[in-house]
Amino acid sequence: MGSKKRVLIVGGVAGGASCAARSRRLSEEADIVVFEKGPYVSFANCGLPYYVGDIITEEEDLFLATPELFKKRFNIDVRVENQVLSIDREKKQVEVKNLQTGTDYHEGYDTLVLSPGAEPIRPPLPGIDLPGIFTLRTVPDSREIRNWIAERTVKHTVIVGGGFIGLEMAENLVKRGIQVTIVEMMPHVLPVLDQEMAASIHTCLTDNGVSLRLNDPVSGFKESEGGPISLELKSGDTLAADMVILVIGVRPDIDLAKRAGLEIGSRGGIRVDDQMRTSDERIWAVGDAVESIDFITGEWGLVPLAGPANRQGRIAADVIFGRDSRFRGVQGTAVCAVFDMTIALTGISEKTLNRLCEEGRMGKYEKVYLHPGHHVGYYPGSENISLKLLFSLEDGSILGAQAVGKAGVEKRIDVIAMAIQRKSTVFDLEEAELCYSPQFGAAKDPVNFAGMVAANTLRGDSPISHWEKIQEFEGLILDVRDDEEFKEDNFKGAMNIPLGELRQRMYELAGDQMILAYCEVGQRSYYATRMLRQSGFNVRNLSGGFKTFKAFQQCNKE
Ligand code: FAD
Repeated sequence: MGSKKRVLIVGGVAGGASCAARSRRLSEEADIVVFEKGPYVSFANCGLPYYVGDIITEEEDLFLATPELFKKRFNIDVRVENQVLSIDREKKQVEVKNLQTGTDYHEGYDTLVLSPGAEPIRPPLPGIDLPGIFTLRTVPDSREIRNWIAERTVKHTVIVGGGFIGLEMAENLVKRGIQVTIVEMMPHVLPVLDQEMAASIHTCLTDNGVSLRLNDPVSGFKESEGGPISLELKSGDTLAADMVILVIGVRPDIDLAKRAGLEIGSRGGIRVDDQMRTSDERIWAVGDAVESIDFITGEWGLVPLAGPANRQGRIAADVIFGRDSRFRGVQGTAVCAVFDMTIALTGISEKTLNRLCEEGRMGKYEKVYLHPGHHVGYYPGSENISLKLLFSLEDGSILGAQAVGKAGVEKRIDVIAMAIQRKSTVFDLEEAELCYSPQFGAAKDPVNFAGMVAANTLRGDSPISHWEKIQEFEGLILDVRDDEEFKEDNFKGAMNIPLGELRQRMYELAGDQMILAYCEVGQRSYYATRMLRQSGFNVRNLSGGFKTFKAFQQCNKE
């Protein structure tokens, strides 16, 4: 497909670089120019927390490509430290400032692609510009943080924001011997997760010495005597810190687009169609700067992740060079590691589902919790994965999944992410044929299990209930764990009949009462549920067992 098109690209990292390279693969003739206002092109922003933490020790390892490599390998003209100042849509040209020389110049385009990314949010709080308060977006940002640590005695850092980057920074600073407090305005870290799924992350953080201040937003910063910065919290408390990392999210960089009169969406990102075209048919936009349709809800949203940015960059190039590629939307598939834990999710959370249900925009849903080993128990080193699966009660279609554990977590979420994209159901998860040998999984993989547990509830084989509804329950709560487990801890008022004795002791249960059966993780109580239902009892299984109950209990305490 030959074309002498002139393609100008604003932004030379994830979306921009991806669009540039794909454009060249589609057209040897095109004239492709990338403008990057920063000093580097195609750098690994996802690696920055690990550079601060000295896991990545050489700064140059963060650079995935250089302007020279782009020129040599792809014949692409990459101009770093060249900032696009404005777009003249009539003349189809951009005004550029060469930041090295200070000179301005113009470049004409046939096609313009915007991938300017997002800006870290810096709310206008008192003292926000004090030295020692950092955001993290670029290599120079990470260098400044490293220098601050190297030049001063940084004993205590406050990280404002418990999202993905906040958690990664916490781990990296702790590993450098720095005491860390995370301040989070929401009741739990990783607000994209549901609260009960975050409980074990709180334990992991505190076990590793990280202090948590939840439900307590920062209201301002002051210079203090105890440390260079004193943070004031909404509660009235103050915290002293030698350094503050502000990672409370990002805002799409829409400045250029807005001034050029391009349509901006309701969520504050550049509005594009499913071929990444803006409201101007000559201008495309991709990455963190754009709004995307949520694959499940159909709502516009902002999902600042590298995967969508790269795919969108590629799709924009395809469309520019005549292919009919389309972006399928985002589903928020993400993963994060903190200390020895991995947290991954895809699709929508229960919080979002509740909101959509209340607004009448989503049908009824159900959820299951399970805690399978990441591989068979008999092979050494099996670690539990706590998995939550959300699905439609109408047709079993999968709506979302969240998982937390030490190993094999992201693999399961990746499988479910693909299932969601293919509009699969829990019945498909039951049937998925996945890899198995003892060190990697089980003949019934956790993904199969999740499908089976969900399908069992839809088929009515094993109706379930949830711990948060237990206060409303008026029947018998039956603990089918062994005596020792029951004695160690149990749900107040529960009756204990270990699963192995249940057949013989069924006569102790009144036939007309509603029974809720639970065990440690929900598996033995499932067997009990099946046994009792076949004997005519009205019984439900408490999904996720006592382990899930403890997570809910921890949430209520926090
Ligand atoms: P960017 O990659 O930010 O690139 C935009 C570029 O445009 C910038 O370099 C900017 O300087 C340049 N620019 C802006 N305006 C102009 C202008 N007018 N003229 C010229 N140049 C301009 N995502 C994940 O999926 N997984 C992760 O683990 C992950 N970790 C992250 C960790 C950190 C610390 C950060 C900051 C981000 C992380 N992300 C992660 C998010 C991911 O990096 C972004 O979603 C992705 O880089 C977005 O790509 P983009 O092209 O839209 O923007």
